[in-house]
Amino acid sequence: KEKTTFSINQMIEEVLAFLYPSILDSKVKIVKETPEEMELNGYADEIRQVLINIVFNAIDVLSQYRDDPKIEIRAYTINNSHIKLEIANNGPAIPGNMLKSIFEPFVTTKKLGTGLGLFVSREIIEKHKGFLACSSVQDRTEFIILLPLARDKE
Ligand code: ADP
Ligand code: MG
Repeated sequence: KEKTTFSINQMIEEVLAFLYPSILDSKVKIVKETPEEMELNGYADEIRQVLINIVFNAIDVLSQYRDDPKIEIRAYTINNSHIKLEIANNGPAIPGNMLKSIFEPFVTTKKLGTGLGLFVSREIIEKHKGFLACSSVQDRTEFIILLPLARDKE
């Protein structure tokens, strides 16, 4: 397994294609605003897994609670050195005491949940010298990923 340089826009397309059956079933509207040319360097399989985890969690919560479910995915460049990726949904707020522990292993509110998705996701992002956090208020739960942009030389 090797590090590669890949387009984040293309990866998001792949993730949405992979999750397409669940997106159809749950009638989630996807809003995607990501620049074409942003590139990351790292373990593509791992970063893809993080995005699948986060988007699938959002589909999961929306399919239970909303009749106008929506997920927004946006990417920006920061300081010409990092990418900021926001994945937001219009579901219910995560209670404050819960919000503190969602990145801990085995914390789940689901009957058949493992509680490992976000724990592993944060490990992966930190291994890539990035940052993963969540903010949540009523009708807007947002996961924020910061990752270094690929350098030209890599
Ligand atoms: P699992 O999906 O197996 O429960 P995760 O680590 O992926 O494990 O998520 C942990 C918990 O965080 C979930 O059980 C859920 O309570 C909460 N959570 C994660 N994403 C969201 C979201 N988008 N909206 C509301 N709660 C969420
Ligand atoms: Mg999960």
